[in-house]
Amino acid sequence: MSKNKQTAIVPIREQNYAEWYQQVIKAADMAENSDVRGCMVIKPWGYAIWENIQRALDIMFRETGHRNAYFPIFIPKSYFEKEAEHVEGFAKECAIVTHSRLEPDGAGGLKVAGELTEPYIVRPTSETIIGASFAKWVSSYRDLPLLINQWANIVRWEMRTRLFLRTAEFLWQEGHTVHETEAEAMEETRKMLGVYATFAKEFLALPVIQGEKTESEKFPGAVTTFCIEAMMQDKKALQSGTSHFLGQNFAKSSGIRYQSRSGEFEYAWTTSWGVSTRLIGALIMAHSDDNGLVLPPKIAPSHVVIIPIYRNEEEHEQVITFAKELEKQFKQLSFEGVKIYTELDDRDLTSSERNWYWIKKGIPVRIEIGPRDIAQNTVMVARRDQEPRDKEAVAVENLVSFIPTALSAMQEGYYQRALAFREENTVEIDDKDQFYKYFTPKNSGQPEIHGGFANAHWCGSEVCEEQIKTDLKVSIRCIPFESKEEAGKCICCGKESRRRVIFAKSY
Ligand SMILES: [Zn+2]
Repeated sequence: MSKNKQTAIVPIREQNYAEWYQQVIKAADMAENSDVRGCMVIKPWGYAIWENIQRALDIMFRETGHRNAYFPIFIPKSYFEKEAEHVEGFAKECAIVTHSRLEPDGAGGLKVAGELTEPYIVRPTSETIIGASFAKWVSSYRDLPLLINQWANIVRWEMRTRLFLRTAEFLWQEGHTVHETEAEAMEETRKMLGVYATFAKEFLALPVIQGEKTESEKFPGAVTTFCIEAMMQDKKALQSGTSHFLGQNFAKSSGIRYQSRSGEFEYAWTTSWGVSTRLIGALIMAHSDDNGLVLPPKIAPSHVVIIPIYRNEEEHEQVITFAKELEKQFKQLSFEGVKIYTELDDRDLTSSERNWYWIKKGIPVRIEIGPRDIAQNTVMVARRDQEPRDKEAVAVENLVSFIPTALSAMQEGYYQRALAFREENTVEIDDKDQFYKYFTPKNSGQPEIHGGFANAHWCGSEVCEEQIKTDLKVSIRCIPFESKEEAGKCICCGKESRRRVIFAKSY
């Protein structure tokens, strides 16, 4: 591949990955920074992707027995104080409401007034406020399990923000469940992680590793945190979803008790789990290329664009009539249970301008129609997973089968490509020097570029974990469920270890 090849996105991934990411979002018109520091405006193309993520997940939640509900955005400070680890984890990134009105300040401006007796925290997560409701809803073992999900916005006062990946306000879903026994709560925690992994694979074409977080990386207040981790094209890891086994910690702090089968009052067992608009960042970084956004067809806002081509008004009339007829036919189409949406782009722009506009937005299939094509009853079809100039003539009567087949092939192709990339960039390392070399930036001008994922032994000590974090900015992403017991030596201290964990740089 020639480096001088013209690309739609400047800089390209190899030159400056972080800037490339911002430019892909801009070129696809998905989102932008707002005047409110750290908060983003999600534009229609980006929001439609979120809606598709939401729709697919919502069905999966419903099928696993969950129901949606909605709880307040404001959490009384006293609720937070009930769970010590929890408050410690979120204290440094809270937005706090302390006043309730504005008054003239006498100088033509306004001043805040009406100080609240108790400040409210704008929810950074809802365990405590939902727990207060659950304490009222649960009184007997007959009320369990209680399986609730909330779609909401969240505020975490982040200082360093990046569109979709880390923003002060973001959108998410948070599942909160209550169970009679420890085993049932643990089963739920695992089950929902599995739902996330399936969703990532089937809809986002994202291969993920399922595993458990170390003590230092787990959710504040949780007993155990499970996660899915994906590899981005800069070989860094992105945590794409988490599922927490909360034990009885939050049940005790919120007073969620139930009368058991034997008549005793007992504390319940709870879980929580979530994914957010961060998944859109994962999508962009896992699949997109130097020509812009690449979208797995199952979550694309639209799937096909028809681009009429003509030289004069007479041709325009003929071509647009033909195009509208096709658009009508396509309305009936679907693939793998997903309805196919079509755009008709008749704007007064050259065909090249219109093609590039849609390439940058990641639309999976482009169809050009001109008078000559109509005469032959064919159209020219281009796929986003092929070179921009590659086009193929397809007979009009074959389009209704060609399009769904192409979309399915692209969906599968992106998954296989992402999986192959992760496998190529994952190694087993047993030697400390080699480990340090692997994570040392190559002299590429991009300090973040490095080896990838390293499967290495770890003794379980936080001291070793911290040492590697300090030296290399590399963390333990997870202890994979799949890792087998195997004797080895800790990559940091050389002491006995019983299993390998995944080390990587991360977002
Ligand atoms: Zn060690």
